[in-house]
Amino acid sequence: MTDRYAVIGNPVAHSKSPWIHAEFARATGQDMSYASIEAPLDGFARAVDAFRAAGGKGLNVTLPFKGEAFRYCQRSSERAALAQAVNTMVLEETSFGDNTDGVGLARDLARNLAVDLAGKRLLLMGAGGAAQGVLGALLEARVGELVIANRTAARAQALAARFPGVKVCRYEALERSFDIVVNATSAGLSGAAPPLPEGVLRPGVLAYEMLYGRDTPFLAAARAAGARSCDGLGMLVEQAAESFFLWRGVRPATAALLERLRHG
Ligand code: NAP
Repeated sequence: MTDRYAVIGNPVAHSKSPWIHAEFARATGQDMSYASIEAPLDGFARAVDAFRAAGGKGLNVTLPFKGEAFRYCQRSSERAALAQAVNTMVLEETSFGDNTDGVGLARDLARNLAVDLAGKRLLLMGAGGAAQGVLGALLEARVGELVIANRTAARAQALAARFPGVKVCRYEALERSFDIVVNATSAGLSGAAPPLPEGVLRPGVLAYEMLYGRDTPFLAAARAAGARSCDGLGMLVEQAAESFFLWRGVRPATAALLERLRHG
């Protein structure tokens, strides 16, 4: 019988995950289907229960349910526990939660963008589900300095407190010395950009926008400042490959698929 998987979120119609996983399945000869489920904002657990009852084997979880998915899962990986957020659920007799966002970002930087994180000064903007998910992997890659800036300062403080060595700074007080600036805010979804002071984006800096599939004010500001810029499509593909591995025990190749997604 064909094994069933899906991405669950709200909204979810824009998700490229069904296409990516269908391509992974084809390339690796796995008998599986992958759908998308838009759960009501107050109905995440009910939607997961229904999917499991219908034989569903695994879920990717996207905005805004990653925290709820962590609380739903009976067991979780160390990295999901550290993030307190789950983007991959393995549904067997018990539910297991993992978080592949951090590995996805770290692999995109290392493999697709040839950026060595070791010793780099990195600014992470945002303190929501995406920021939570990537902090552990960034530290594991031995970044030299990691600073979080977030619109709601208390949220950044609470997040940094869980990760020794991570600093917090208000946007207006940021120094102009970062090598990498990662936008893990959802500001781009509403056509906005985080309030970065002039000079943070400059030639030599990599400006990484986690959002993908659209040109955002952050990407435009990076280009205008002469910084190298990149969106989160590679992270999406790399985190999907890690989820696929968790479910199927097979690691799909990513480079050619990413190229097709970018250039059709
Ligand atoms: P989230 O949990 O809703 O958090 C949103 C964050 O953005 C919060 O820190 C929020 O600050 C901040 N924010 C929102 N609007 C802002 C604005 N106008 N100015 C400054 N800060 C603003 O969302 P999320 O799950 O972390 O997702 C964040 C982004 O990452 C989304 O665009 C998502 O699509 C993307 N993402 C991409 C991938 C990938 O694979 N490429 C994976 C995960 C997420 P407050 O705390 O002050 O509200």
